[in-house]
Amino acid sequence: MYCIKCGKLLDENASFCTSCGAKYSHDSSTNQSDYFGANSFSYTPIDQIPTRYMPLGAWSYFWLNVLFSIPFVGFIFLIIFSFSNSNINRRNFARSYWCIYVIYAIIALLFIGAR
Ligand SMILES: [Zn+2]
Repeated sequence: MYCIKCGKLLDENASFCTSCGAKYSHDSSTNQSDYFGANSFSYTPIDQIPTRYMPLGAWSYFWLNVLFSIPFVGFIFLIIFSFSNSNINRRNFARSYWCIYVIYAIIALLFIGAR
């Protein structure tokens, strides 16, 4: 196997990297799972990431922006996506949009108060 940190070729049963010191556990019961449920020392190929955690591309964010900018219809989608768990990244992006609305609301209130 190759060291996941530095790429050095290691013995299959090596418990640590002789080059950079990265530790390897070969006992599956003690391996910790990361956010994607994968072993800490293996990467999850992009086609195996569940839809729920699938990263969104720049164009996805662009079109979400366009969608949320549409009056009324965009607002409905914003509410739906904010509570939908079908994709965590889309949900978080929708939630971040609320922060912008809060800032707009504060600015609007300041202008009303300043009159
Ligand atoms: Zn290493």
